[in-house]
Amino acid sequence: MTRSAPQFLCDPVLETVQVEHGFGTRGAVAPGGTLRPNQVHGNAVARFEGGSGVDPLEADALLSRIPTQSVAVVTADCVPVLVASADGGCVAAVHAGWRGLACGVIPAAIAALSEWGFTDLRAAIGPHARACCYEVDTPVLEALEGPFGPALAEAVRPTRPGHAGLDLQRLALEALSRGGIRSDHRGSAAAMCTVCHPELFDSFRRQGDQAGRMIHWVRPIRDA
Ligand SMILES: [Zn+2]
Repeated sequence: MTRSAPQFLCDPVLETVQVEHGFGTRGAVAPGGTLRPNQVHGNAVARFEGGSGVDPLEADALLSRIPTQSVAVVTADCVPVLVASADGGCVAAVHAGWRGLACGVIPAAIAALSEWGFTDLRAAIGPHARACCYEVDTPVLEALEGPFGPALAEAVRPTRPGHAGLDLQRLALEALSRGGIRSDHRGSAAAMCTVCHPELFDSFRRQGDQAGRMIHWVRPIRDA
């Protein structure tokens, strides 16, 4: 029996700035030497500028401005966000589940890119548990209310008492928008639902502890 090779999904918004990247499907393997942080559902941002490695190691966003150095995050329902500067010379991989969105991992990553002098950004959202399949309870909504305010209501649809369907993508796009990334520079072409597509993705919601993780990577271009 033959099986086709695992694939990565790309986003046209990142292709326009020519950064190599991929949102992983099940079993897809990132380029050798790809760095990733120890993810903890927080808002710490790690940076790679060459030298001895990632600092800090525990983080949910990782920046690189070394052309040979790809960076990645892994997910199994959370939202992966890949960011690149307009010249392709700097990139970030961000892990943004509801906890990361609540504690501001996306604005933290954008601020770190800005500190390095990169303010004209492109960003793409990858596969995650979409609104069709993602129900949360009141404590989750309360955690998101502070950072998102009225925008949260737009991302919520009532289900059963004490619960609601939540559109993580809408919140991630809102956070990118607030970070100054305009709508045509924010992509979601690869944002398929991990729960709805068992043939392509692992999903924590669907498989629990049996779920594997997909890897999502991005690398600066050589001659930025
Ligand atoms: Zn779904």
